[in-house]
Amino acid sequence: MTVFESMSARDHEQVIHCFDRESGLKAIIAIHNTALGPALGGCRFWNYEKEEDALRDVLRLSRGMTYKSAAAGLNLGGGKAVIIGDPKRLKSEALFRAYGRFVQGLGGRYITAEDVGTTVRDMEWVRMETDFVTGISRALGGSGDPSPVTALGTYEGIKASLKWTTGNESLEGKKVAVQGVGAVGYHLVQHLTRDGAKVFICDIDTENVKRAVGDFRGVEAVSPETIYDVDCDVFAPCALGAVINDKTIPRLKCSVVAGSANNILEKEEKHAKALEERDILYAPDYVINAGGLINVANELEGYNRERAVQHAAGIYAIVTSIYEIAREEKITTNEAANKLAERRIRSIGRIKHTFAGVRLHKRARGII
Ligand code: NAD
Repeated sequence: MTVFESMSARDHEQVIHCFDRESGLKAIIAIHNTALGPALGGCRFWNYEKEEDALRDVLRLSRGMTYKSAAAGLNLGGGKAVIIGDPKRLKSEALFRAYGRFVQGLGGRYITAEDVGTTVRDMEWVRMETDFVTGISRALGGSGDPSPVTALGTYEGIKASLKWTTGNESLEGKKVAVQGVGAVGYHLVQHLTRDGAKVFICDIDTENVKRAVGDFRGVEAVSPETIYDVDCDVFAPCALGAVINDKTIPRLKCSVVAGSANNILEKEEKHAKALEERDILYAPDYVINAGGLINVANELEGYNRERAVQHAAGIYAIVTSIYEIAREEKITTNEAANKLAERRIRSIGRIKHTFAGVRLHKRARGII
């Protein structure tokens, strides 16, 4: 497939190849859709075997960001960047500053952030060359670690799912199995136990298990192999992707799957349907884990923790709307989430056809 064929397959607006011989920078920036606002998405540093793999990845990930931002109610579009090469060998100040200059050259159409293989520190180099970077440390006035806000959004998504299935959102006496108690899982367990839930946890890192068992009441550790078999109300994957698959679905003894991990379903539609057939409600991952994105997006307006937390709490209402769409249209919750996002992009994109005069405001300049 040529680059244009790949772009037209999923309606991408723009793909930029960036090269700097001295620093070794080879990057691809993909802007999928800017109907709602500038394209926001992290910069992944990965040692791709082939250039085509990098292009495929950046096109897929940037499209995912369009849906995530739209469903979260953000005035942002979808974009992503990949830097090709071994991060251990290639990372340098010059490389990230060169990357920052390319981002700046896009004049705000794309806003970058950290992702797999890049860190907040790397973004501080990027920031030396561009205004269009977010996810900066708290010390520099940024939003810092997004995981507490991600955990809050996931917790709200769990409550909305319980309300939908049982008519009562209360976690008192409910059983929740949390797979992975790292940055997000730990904070999620904190919310759940505070509300009186019995929480089963697992992690391959025994230190993380010890920390969660020691810090919260009502927590019981199980092995990573048996977490799928726990008799519970909610299974919350907060570690890896593709954990809901042909092998695990028959083992589940829950009525809700709702966790922070990305790409929880191994095959999106197939496994969304398989959960539905087993009468297990699936909270679409990209919707309930959007707290992190909401947090970094908030930084663009001058970071305000309270506002970010309030916005993330709105995930409860968004998840409920998705369940309503799924019920009315007899589609999976996964399809319903995509529909909700597409409708917002269409309807808000359409009103922008009306000339509304000039606004002397940062929104008018496309910052947000
Ligand atoms: P993390 O690395 O801090 O935590 C993941 C935890 O999962 C670790 O403790 C790890 O040891 C454990 N783990 C790995 N493999 C496991 C297995 N097979 N069984 C049990 N535990 C296992 O990552 P995080 O920031 O907490 O993110 C968790 C998930 O949520 C990831 O999928 C991430 O992509 C997603 N997510 C995170 C954020 C965020 O704000 N951090 C935002 C959106 C999505």
